Amino acid sequence: MYNGGEHSHTDGGSRMSNSLVLAPAPRSEAAEQVRAEVREFLAAELAAGTFRTHVDTWLSGVDPEFSRKLGERGWLGMTWPKEYGGHERTAMERYAVTEELLAAGAPVAAHWIADRQSGPNLLRYGTEKQRQEILPRIARGECYFVIGMSEPDSGSDLASIRTRASRTESGDWVVNGAKVWTSNAHASHYGIVLVRTSPADPSNRHAGLSQLLIDLSLPGITVNPIRILDGGHHFNEVVFEDVVVPGDMLLGTEGDGWHQVTAELAFERSGPERFLSTYPLLAEFGRRVVDTGDAAQLVALGRLSARALALRQMSLRIAAALDRGELPNIPAALVKDVGTTFEADVIDEIRRVVDVTPSLDSPDPLARALAEAQLHQPGFTLRGGTNEILRGIVARGLGLR
Ligand SMILES: Cc1cc2nc3c(=O)[nH]c(=O)nc-3n(C[C@H](O)[C@H](O)[C@H](O)COP(=O)(O)OP(=O)(O)OC[C@H]3O[C@@H](n4cnc5c(N)ncnc54)[C@H](O)[C@@H]3O)c2cc1C
Repeated sequence: MYNGGEHSHTDGGSRMSNSLVLAPAPRSEAAEQVRAEVREFLAAELAAGTFRTHVDTWLSGVDPEFSRKLGERGWLGMTWPKEYGGHERTAMERYAVTEELLAAGAPVAAHWIADRQSGPNLLRYGTEKQRQEILPRIARGECYFVIGMSEPDSGSDLASIRTRASRTESGDWVVNGAKVWTSNAHASHYGIVLVRTSPADPSNRHAGLSQLLIDLSLPGITVNPIRILDGGHHFNEVVFEDVVVPGDMLLGTEGDGWHQVTAELAFERSGPERFLSTYPLLAEFGRRVVDTGDAAQLVALGRLSARALALRQMSLRIAAALDRGELPNIPAALVKDVGTTFEADVIDEIRRVVDVTPSLDSPDPLARALAEAQLHQPGFTLRGGTNEILRGIVARGLGLR
């Protein structure tokens, strides 16, 4: 869930590749095989009552035990090299796993950020020591990460961050500042935190930024909860007061933080979670429609299903592009814009045609899913970069600005 910001300026700098949008989504036998295994696993877990289906579980479903089970099955760090605890499988196989977990509303939030973007970020920019120490733990489902980008006065305009890191004589960093909307900081081990390591230069706002790998248990870090509309504690303000971070916890190159952050975005924005957050609600609605056979409900189900299928095709093509080693930032921005709009439309369309009072405590699963979805809805089009920002990126990709 980060941001976006006008760092969109640097999103690859390329024009949108038509092949990403128009080429048919490839089919992968290996992906279908692992999909069947995940379905079997989820059916057994649901039957055993180890989790209950919820909406938007990649934000709110923190369950370390469940994450460890996925790690044991080899479903975390799937695409990473084996020497770092990974499984050297394809992005298409990983896609099938994440898609099934999201569709089932399984509790995947604990490991989500680490598996989706912090691990790939470490693979790309981390030192050998950082990779050896951290990646196998992520792949086992034991080590969780946060995204430390947004600040109280810096969201879309990420280059304006004020959290500072200064070098000490011994080569360590001293960090001061505050991050906000930091998802699951209270349940995570590390943050990849964007900091200013040289004074802001008005002629190049993107210069002087760096990424630090920060152990969230260090002295001087305070994690203050911020509750969302349903009362749940998912995100936080994280305050850094003279936090001493060892010098070898710089991630990548000092001063190259802007470039590194933008590279992260292809991973952050490209996954099926950007259109499946409300899928458990849609599935519950589908079950209801089968029972009622109501004409207006059938039309709504048909319309929503068609949109979901189209989005899925686009999203799959992005997974295929990742397999080809590309960083499809611009198509990912497009799919995220359309996908998160769809997530919210699922709620509105269903509300229009069902006579159900949304309630978190209702014994009716549709009423419960509707309430959860409504209370999470405001975040869909904000997290990971607002839709206005994403449209700016797409416009740039099309050469329109
Ligand atoms: C559920 C959730 C989880 C999140 N998790 C994290 C996290 O883990 N880590 C993290 O770092 N951040 C996280 N965020 C923060 C998120 O990335 C920011 O909320 C987002 O980038 C927008 O920044 P802002 O809230 O400061 O809004 P602002 O940037 O102040 O934007 C306010 C409004 O102005 C519009 N706007 C701003 N600039 C422009 C422009 N140039 N052109 C057109 N319109 C513009 C925006 O689209 C928006 O509608 C999370 C947010 C949510 C909702």
